[in-house]
Amino acid sequence: MREILVTGGSGFLGSHLCDALLNRGHSVLCVDNFYTGQRSNIKHLLGNVDFELMRHDVVFPLYVEVGRIFNLACPASPIHYQQDPVQTTKTSVIGAINLLGLAKRLGVPILQASTSEVYGDPQIHPQHEAYWGSVNPIGPRSCYDEGKRCAETLFFEYHRQNNVDIKVMRIFNTYGPRMNPNDGRVVSNFIVQALQGKPITIYGTGKQIRSFCYVDDLIAGMLAFSDSPPDFTGPVNFGNPFECSMLELAERILKLVDSKSKLEFRDLPQDDPVQRCPDISLAKSSFGWQPKVDLEDGLKETVAWFRHVIEA
Ligand code: NAD
Ligand code: UDP
Repeated sequence: MREILVTGGSGFLGSHLCDALLNRGHSVLCVDNFYTGQRSNIKHLLGNVDFELMRHDVVFPLYVEVGRIFNLACPASPIHYQQDPVQTTKTSVIGAINLLGLAKRLGVPILQASTSEVYGDPQIHPQHEAYWGSVNPIGPRSCYDEGKRCAETLFFEYHRQNNVDIKVMRIFNTYGPRMNPNDGRVVSNFIVQALQGKPITIYGTGKQIRSFCYVDDLIAGMLAFSDSPPDFTGPVNFGNPFECSMLELAERILKLVDSKSKLEFRDLPQDDPVQRCPDISLAKSSFGWQPKVDLEDGLKETVAWFRHVIEA
């Protein structure tokens, strides 16, 4: 039971993964440069002897001894990954090279947090893993989309060329407690706006579709995938196939918060995907994973958490 490295461990998903690994009896080395991560996400772990925090940017090589690697380091919200697109590309590509090099030297498994964004603005629906995607290589989302696509390439080439034990996880929109209130993603924006009585910012018509997965389901899927046999590399989709327009999401949140906030329509950002929904049959058939938390229950938990944070 050697130490497990979680890069991006102080972020939204990373901090939940650190909790889950510690609960399983592992010790965890959390590496983060705090670009979007928050100390408050891991504050409760700082006194735990099985938890170690290292401030480090994965763009630079890392020399540590660990038994397994989860690579989550990368800003995930469009406003944050577009703030410094060159750094986002470096984090995805050079970060992947550094961590794959580490996995190769140590001979340990490595899991990549890839994304549904590798499908771009998809032309088939729902998206299954065999679909190659429809991605603009030079637009404002490209630093993230193409960075993550190149990272997938690197994972598979290190696997083929150097026999590195890889797992590539394509994560669809995930939400829950510990999202940064200033994160800019739709669930956190709408909840914070509803709680503060501010206008709910709908981009475009609000008819665009997303599928939202609750964080506990996602982390359970990540662990199930990581436990699967070494020859099972993926890529595997993880998400909740329940579809929801942004207008419907706004209505649900306004009702849950009991808020009188009005809707405010804004321009749709360039290359914003029209519709996105995972085909999760591979995860289901391979290790029986499927989400358990429905949108209403997940939003209730998330609203309760944001209420606590905002009122604190
Ligand atoms: P997040 O922004 O909350 O967490 C990312 C973490 O990575 C932060 O703690 C940040 O400080 C850290 N980080 C960024 N650049 C770094 C660098 N160069 N070196 C070290 N640390 C760095 O985002 P999240 O939602 O927790 O996403 C985690 C991972 O999952 C990301 O790789 C993201 O692309 C992927 N993902 C998330 C979602 C989602 O809906 N949450 C969907 C698809 C993919
Ligand atoms: N969105 C919105 N209002 C907001 C934030 C986002 O209408 O305040 C829309 C955004 O245009 C997109 C969807 O919500 O169509 C999901 O956006 P998010 O940034 O959460 O993730 P994406 O799926 O685009 O990566």
